Amino acid sequence: MTDTPAPASESAPESASVPTPVVLPEPTTARPVPGQLTFQAPRRGKPPRHLADLTPAERKEAVESLGHKGFRAKQLSTHYFERLEDDPEQMTDLPKAVRSELVAGLLPTLLTPIVQRVADDGQTMKYAWRLHDGAIVESVLMRYPKRVTICISSQAGCGMNCPFCATGQAGLTRNMSAGEIVEQVVWAARALRRGELAGGGDEDREAPLRVSNVVFMGMGEALANYKASIGAIRRLTDPAPDGLGMSARGITMSTVGLVPGIDKLTAEGIPVTLALSLHAPDDELRNELVPINTRWSVDEALDAAYRYFEATGRRVSIEYALIRDINDQGWRADLLGEKLNRRGRGWVHVNPIPLNPTPGSKWTASRPGVEQNFVERLRAHGIPTTIRDTRGQDIDGACGQLAASTA
Ligand code: SAH
Repeated sequence: MTDTPAPASESAPESASVPTPVVLPEPTTARPVPGQLTFQAPRRGKPPRHLADLTPAERKEAVESLGHKGFRAKQLSTHYFERLEDDPEQMTDLPKAVRSELVAGLLPTLLTPIVQRVADDGQTMKYAWRLHDGAIVESVLMRYPKRVTICISSQAGCGMNCPFCATGQAGLTRNMSAGEIVEQVVWAARALRRGELAGGGDEDREAPLRVSNVVFMGMGEALANYKASIGAIRRLTDPAPDGLGMSARGITMSTVGLVPGIDKLTAEGIPVTLALSLHAPDDELRNELVPINTRWSVDEALDAAYRYFEATGRRVSIEYALIRDINDQGWRADLLGEKLNRRGRGWVHVNPIPLNPTPGSKWTASRPGVEQNFVERLRAHGIPTTIRDTRGQDIDGACGQLAASTA
């Protein structure tokens, strides 16, 4: 989900402080299958169990089943979620013998950093992680004047096969665990605490620097890995020490439009922001751009998004990558405006994103005048519309290139 073209600093040498890669283990099962819709993630060895996979009650059980007192679970949670502690030596309220066993049993290493790149004068960091089985995922940490956003992955690869997205082209390797999803955020929080991200305005100096926003816009379709993704959302939003205590409003769930997944999320009653990757208002084109549309049509996806708004009161984002001469015609802006207004007013805003080119793709971003016209046509329908800046000022949603460089 980084942007293009890469700023000069983005090609900075890989950080010397990250461990040298070791030999990757062979994948345990078949390789991902690019070029088709894949729901069922290939089965591979499970990631080790982690505290962040578990509810507070399950943590207590897990600690007890290791032969320790139940209250140790809360101590571990406090170290992990509240203090962001990663050094077992500092967990001095746990007797030494207990400590190593509990850390091994509940705080195993899930992510090994293999590449770390800096962009935008140090205000953007991109991490590539190796998971326990050799699968590689990425996250991007971005600092703005009043917020810090991390874009996280929920699957290694993706099975949704959108032809303009590099991740989609690589196919699905496997689902990530809740722990692996949460660890990306905890890593980021630690990096911030160590002062590794430049930037921020004067108004930021006083307040402690925290990750304020999490967007599920990295690799993967999070709603196709529902259980782990919702578990991760709970860990992020549960108050410390059970979780990181983030505001649900700062979390964005982005989806191709898996209608049953959207409905399930609606029923959870957690007011995260929903982003629907629409990219076309008509089924004929969307079938091509977002192949899942052959299963759930534009109207079905929009209805589900509207139900989400009705239940949560959260305004839905419509993502629309503007692709030159493909989906950027004025009549498509009108059709989109009509379809959104037909369902109601004030429930939605549109985020057009100039397409980020990806390797092997014949498509490119719309011409600026065309882009502006598209925006104006939507606004004329009364739809709040904001272009996302491809340069990286607001790349929360400008995705599609993850896995291109490192996987
Ligand atoms: N599976 C989720 C998350 C994907 S990445 C989803 O589809 O919503 C987040 C956003 O980036 C999606 O809207 C996706 O369609 C968009 N995207 C993918 N490739 C892109 C590209 N090359 N240029 C611009 N946006 C892209």
